[in-house]
Amino acid sequence: MRIFAVGRNYAEHIKELSNEKPDEPVIFTKPDTALIRNNAPFYYPSFSKDVHYEGELVLRICKEGKNIEERFAGKYYDAIGFGVDFTARDLQQKAKEKGLPWDIAKGFNGSAPVSDKFILINEFKDLKNINFSLSVNGEIKQQGNTSLMLFSFDYIISYLSKFFTLRTGDYIFTGTPKGVGPVKVGDVLSGSIEHEKLLEFEVR
Ligand code: MG
Repeated sequence: MRIFAVGRNYAEHIKELSNEKPDEPVIFTKPDTALIRNNAPFYYPSFSKDVHYEGELVLRICKEGKNIEERFAGKYYDAIGFGVDFTARDLQQKAKEKGLPWDIAKGFNGSAPVSDKFILINEFKDLKNINFSLSVNGEIKQQGNTSLMLFSFDYIISYLSKFFTLRTGDYIFTGTPKGVGPVKVGDVLSGSIEHEKLLEFEVR
C-alpha cells in the first residue's frame, strides 16, 4: 500500500505557516514504514527538535484506477479514518528554504499513525460537512470541517490519479486544519471524527 498526502488544503492552516495558497493540491508521499497501527506509541525521533502533529482525515482507496474523472471519484474510496501527519518542522523549514524535497521531514519512521477503525462513506450524511478534531492530553488543539477544504475528496482523487495509479488499500491524508503544534515525550494524542474517538496513542 502507499500513503499519499495533500498539503495546504485548509486556508487557515496555510496562513499560520505563512504559505502560499496553491492552484492545485500540493502532493507528497510517505513510505509504508511511516505507518503506525493499533494505537501503538510514536517514538520521538532524535534528528528533530520540533516535531508537529497535523490531524487529518484519511481516505481509504477501494478500487484500482488512474485518470479518474472527478464525477466518478466517489467509487474509488469507501471509508474515512483519522491520521496524524507528523512533520519534523525544523527539517521541513530547511528544505523549504532551499527548495528541496520534504521526504525526511514528512516520511520518517512512524510519521503516519492511522486509526484502525474507518467509518464507511455511506454512514456520513454529507461528505462536505464532516467535523473532526485532534486533542493533546485531553485538550482540543485542532478542529476541522471538510467544508473548509480548498480541494474536495473527489478533486484530490481525480488529481492524484493523473500521476499515480491508485490501488485498493492505499491511504490519502487530506490535509490539516489550523492549530498544528509541537509534541513532546509523554503527550497523549487522540483523534475524533464527529464525536467518535478513533485514534489514541502516546508519544514516547
Ligand atoms: Mg499534513
